[in-house]
Amino acid sequence: MNLNSLKGRPLVAALLATLVAGLGHLYLKKWARTVAWFTLIYVAGLVFVPRPELIALVNQGAEPPVAHLLPVLAIQFLSALDAYRVARTERRRLAALDPCPNCGKPTDDDLEFCPWCTQRLGVESPEQDGASGNRLISR
Ligand SMILES: [Zn+2]
Repeated sequence: MNLNSLKGRPLVAALLATLVAGLGHLYLKKWARTVAWFTLIYVAGLVFVPRPELIALVNQGAEPPVAHLLPVLAIQFLSALDAYRVARTERRRLAALDPCPNCGKPTDDDLEFCPWCTQRLGVESPEQDGASGNRLISR
């Protein structure tokens, strides 16, 4: 099974989520979680950072005291943790699935073809088709 293409994903997702809450989930294409984390960090900023400091931050780039940012930073940290956990769970799920007989990469149960090489799944491989074709001709 070729999981090399998925190797760095949990770490990349966590690093992106550390930069901007929800960005790691966007990278993982977890749309609902992306919206949830963006919304949560936005609301946390409005609720926990005092309004004058928020205005100064937006207008002049003046950083509020760290103590006022702690709830927002905590949510950002949790977002990174969640992105890492979601990516690891996804990677384990993919590893548990049957690999594609053609390219060896993980397949998706919902698809009738390999998402990596488009090989149809659950049907004979082209070599076997050729063999059965020869058999038909020899009859
Ligand atoms: Zn394949």
